[in-house]
Amino acid sequence: MGSGIDVTVEKLIVPTVKVACGFKVDEEELVRLVGFAMAPTSRDIMEKVSFWLIDSQGNVLKCRICDRGPFTKKGLFLHLTRIHQDDIRALIGDELRRALRKVTHAGPQ
Ligand SMILES: [Zn+2]
Repeated sequence: MGSGIDVTVEKLIVPTVKVACGFKVDEEELVRLVGFAMAPTSRDIMEKVSFWLIDSQGNVLKCRICDRGPFTKKGLFLHLTRIHQDDIRALIGDELRRALRKVTHAGPQ
């Protein structure tokens, strides 16, 4: 069960960085990665986590984790996926576990 979460977390790293850098991740792509059931939760998590990854002031993109920059979208994408993959994995893992706990305990509303 724990490993199932880890697999999903791993799959969400690149799409999360894409969203953070302003690239589009379309619905089919997300469903293909994580499945129908997980797609809405995954979308929430990607959007939440992406806020913590970048600092954008106007057209200037900076890395929020290490404060480096400015980067182009592509440059920031490469920076985050190469340098901060572990940080991003941890952030997504926390959010995903929290989201799944909420679902289990809250039940249908
Ligand atoms: Zn950085």
